[in-house]
Amino acid sequence: MVRWKTLAIGLGLALALLLFAQHRNAMREQISFTGVIDLTHTLNDHSPSWDGAAQSPYSVRTLGTIEHDGYYYRSFTTEEHYGTHLDAPAHFAKRMWTVDQIPSERLVRPLVVLDVRSRVKGHPDYEVTVQDIADFESKHGEIPDGAVVMALTGWEDRWSDSGSYRNVSPDGVMHFPGYSLEAAQFLVKTRNVVGLGIDTMSIDPGANTAFPVHHFTANESVYQLENVGNLALVPASGATLVVAPIKLDNGSGGPARLLALVK
Ligand SMILES: [Zn+2]
Repeated sequence: MVRWKTLAIGLGLALALLLFAQHRNAMREQISFTGVIDLTHTLNDHSPSWDGAAQSPYSVRTLGTIEHDGYYYRSFTTEEHYGTHLDAPAHFAKRMWTVDQIPSERLVRPLVVLDVRSRVKGHPDYEVTVQDIADFESKHGEIPDGAVVMALTGWEDRWSDSGSYRNVSPDGVMHFPGYSLEAAQFLVKTRNVVGLGIDTMSIDPGANTAFPVHHFTANESVYQLENVGNLALVPASGATLVVAPIKLDNGSGGPARLLALVK
């Protein structure tokens, strides 16, 4: 009797495994990739912050340890715009999507990387131009409709040195590269991009405190990705980007995990 029971459980388990395997195969056919590249900096208390204050906007408190409580857990505090993060359209435009409202289908998209490192060298105030996009397309083909476009400026090399990453001149102005308004308008109006990203603290150049690119893109329901890492490791085109921001109720943005699925 016991043996029959064991056999029944075994058969049930085998069937479940078979169905699971079939399901997995179906998934594999829909999304094909051979590698995953993490474009996210680790969230910690020693990363560059917008205002450069000595006190980090991020802190953690240990609430339990395995030794004392049987399990390890913590609470953490952060600004919404610290580390690798997403700016929701609501960050710069009233009544536009907050981070929890961005439709999930806009968070898995073709990834395009504009490599402007050679232009940024010696020009910290560099703005990505329409010409840069034209150069990209003559080499790699037209940017696919509805993609997320990232600018690879090489600024990530400064990530571990907050002073150099923020690059403040004696007059208190930050200097790091961003997008020109014209380039952003071109990408949104003619290539229908859903997100714009960069490996600096802002898609607007550091010296432009009027934030024209933020204002324009927010009003077009386009989100921004800032402090992006590892862009040099992904191909210029052909990868799929998975954008996973924290689903914070009414958030202006928030920490985001960015994963590039490469073929
Ligand atoms: Zn931001």
